[in-house]
Amino acid sequence: MPLVLVEQVGGAPSDPSLQTLTLARSFGGPIHALVVGSAVDLSHHGVAVTHIAVHDELDSFAPDAWAAILGQLSDRLSANAIFAAGTDRGNDVMARVAARMGLPLATNCISVAPGDQINLTRQRWGGSLLEEARMRSPRPLITVAPHTVVVEIASAETKLEKFTPQLEEQELAVRVAEHVSTKGGGVSLAEAKVVVSGGRGVGSAEGFAIIEELAELLGGAVGCSRVVTSAGWLPHTNQVGQTGTKVSPDLYVACGISGATQHIAGCKGAKKILAINADPDAPILASADYAVIGDLHQIVPAISAELRKVRGA
Ligand SMILES: Cc1cc2nc3c(=O)[nH]c(=O)nc-3n(C[C@H](O)[C@H](O)[C@H](O)COP(=O)(O)OP(=O)(O)OC[C@H]3O[C@@H](n4cnc5c(N)ncnc54)[C@H](O)[C@@H]3O)c2cc1C
Repeated sequence: MPLVLVEQVGGAPSDPSLQTLTLARSFGGPIHALVVGSAVDLSHHGVAVTHIAVHDELDSFAPDAWAAILGQLSDRLSANAIFAAGTDRGNDVMARVAARMGLPLATNCISVAPGDQINLTRQRWGGSLLEEARMRSPRPLITVAPHTVVVEIASAETKLEKFTPQLEEQELAVRVAEHVSTKGGGVSLAEAKVVVSGGRGVGSAEGFAIIEELAELLGGAVGCSRVVTSAGWLPHTNQVGQTGTKVSPDLYVACGISGATQHIAGCKGAKKILAINADPDAPILASADYAVIGDLHQIVPAISAELRKVRGA
């Protein structure tokens, strides 16, 4: 049976974890889920048993401890596969499981066909390439590329079972010590329905005031290109792209961003892209649904002013 690691956001299963459960069902067999800390309702996601790992010392994310738990539980269940979402945490934990157990890991998969030889389709190069791969393993480790699978509801009678892992001190050495809210608070880049991003065209750290203002008016999050993080205008947590966060908002507003493939890799999951760029030949226009050609320092404040007017604020 497949074992699926389920991450939580605010006490509910994360969207990438629900997508992972949907894909794991294509592997066949009763689905066992693992959550760490507190129970979540997975009865609409085809889960036969939810295992809740509880340990006195485990009060925050600790990748080695989570890997140890997955190893112990998968041995106990004789799981024939382990799945996790291809999130930062999911890939981090599964790489540790692979190293500890000497098992092969396929990351960022979008489809899986089981058999003596497992056929997988994987996203590579930030999603610009799909790889058809084959894997032979009694217990393949698979992470699922976020936002590539549509969640399908499957009702099941889910049993809850408590699991107490045996953890060594060194497995708790690396752990989250503190959560610090990002500036602007609230909406995370990966989950935001609107993302307003700025690139080199914004010109400076101070220039981001107009980007932040528009994001706030739209209830969205602020993103940026790598040029911006390299210049130190914003931290890496705001970077969208192949080596940043992959976003899938309803609307992505790209201000002063040229549209390099490494940037597009992070925002092509957006339902609509609005590009604001001074250059009518900027590559981003090939990916954009809407474009405004001109100076963002005039256009962005004008959009904010119009929004305020419409809202009577
Ligand atoms: C291995 C690797 C990984 C990478 N990962 C990432 C990644 O994760 N994310 C990422 O973003 N990049 C990444 N990059 C870098 C990427 O290749 C580009 O260099 C980067 O995205 C360019 O950033 P930019 O669009 O802000 O800057 P530029 O390419 O310099 O574009 C600036 C744009 O702003 C426009 N502009 C200038 N002034 C104005 C104005 N006043 N008003 C309106 N428009 C204006 C210009 O016309 C231009 O189109 C990676 C590169 C490599 C090699």
